[in-house]
Amino acid sequence: MISYGKQSINQTDIDSLIRIFKGDWLTQGPTVKKFEADLKNYFGSDYACAVSNGTAALHLAGIALGWKKNDIVITSPLTFLSTVNSIVYSGATPEFVDIDFETYTLDPTKLEDKIKYYARSGKEVRAVIAVDFAGQPCDWKALNYLSQKYKFQLINDNCHSLGASYYGDKQYAVKYADAVIHSYHPVKHITTGEGGAVLTNNKELSDKVKKLRSHGMTKIEDELENNEGPWYYEMHELGYNYRITDFQCALGVSQLKRLDEFISKRQAIAQKYNNFFSDNDFVKVPKKYNDIDHAYHLYPLLINFKKIKLNKSDIFKIMLKEGVNLQVHYFPVHLQPYYKKKFGFKKGDYPLSEMFYENEISIPIYPDLKNNEQYKVMQLFKEIFND
Ligand SMILES: *Cc1c(COP(=O)(O)O)cnc(C)c1O
Repeated sequence: MISYGKQSINQTDIDSLIRIFKGDWLTQGPTVKKFEADLKNYFGSDYACAVSNGTAALHLAGIALGWKKNDIVITSPLTFLSTVNSIVYSGATPEFVDIDFETYTLDPTKLEDKIKYYARSGKEVRAVIAVDFAGQPCDWKALNYLSQKYKFQLINDNCHSLGASYYGDKQYAVKYADAVIHSYHPVKHITTGEGGAVLTNNKELSDKVKKLRSHGMTKIEDELENNEGPWYYEMHELGYNYRITDFQCALGVSQLKRLDEFISKRQAIAQKYNNFFSDNDFVKVPKKYNDIDHAYHLYPLLINFKKIKLNKSDIFKIMLKEGVNLQVHYFPVHLQPYYKKKFGFKKGDYPLSEMFYENEISIPIYPDLKNNEQYKVMQLFKEIFND
């Protein structure tokens, strides 16, 4: 089966796991620290805190940043559920700003309008979570400028964009955002099975996240109210068990070494799609900028279904019959029944995200996608367009 995304596991990855299983530590051992050190090194952050998944990373970042009831936290409707759910976990109120239709990421101009709209009724926006959708970095210069002008916290949900570069810089994410969120789910750029991390240059934030991922426990002498002995720990704040294991981190260490290779393979696949689809006016391909390198977690293709006289389900059926499993990213989060009912969002609120959803199909892109498999996908599209 050819899928829209898939992990790549080689013998080196497997060997790194076997070494852990033969050793002393399955969890809370030295390999978690090793993976965190490698993350800091690769992504240029002062601190990295690996956790059980990307959703947990978002959850802990929100709590560590102090979000609470009645705080307004803004994100894009074009993201996975977790981004928005994490706002609700902290008790804050989720709000959206529509996408820019070139980058498919949160539009800074509309963001400023929304901030001004709230300011007129004396309300402040506490934080913004911007998503580097599909692998395309947001307009971080503009977002960072606004975060300083209006004093809101800025989070990069970077789950799609590990290995992207922004004006030649792969370490851009922590330079513009207060906290950067990773996921290492198998469809993402590197995998630990389930896993995630919070990266930041803020020590206080990192210390909080580290404590919260392990029940809010501390053994640090300076922080203890009493010290009853070497067995003793205290809890001053409600935390969680969001720890990641040593064997997951061993896979992470091995996968991170392969990230550059993964990204160049994805970019080569994308280039072939770009060339192939540039021939016709039925589709719109992801925008390619000169000084920004897309990481192509996804290859979102926008299709003019009216012109090709087929609908999305028809294309899914044709492809599935040939062993190609497509996907759609994403059904806009504000239209989820939960968000409509609880917060009153409705159809028409964010027309560009809605239009994007109507037209989008994510076509197969992953490092192990073979030439002949990609060729097959393109041939199937050729037949679809010629109908
Ligand atoms: C995958 C993903 C997450 C959540 O990550 P998990 O590790 O699956 O919990 C959050 N945000 C975005 C944009 C994602 O793609």
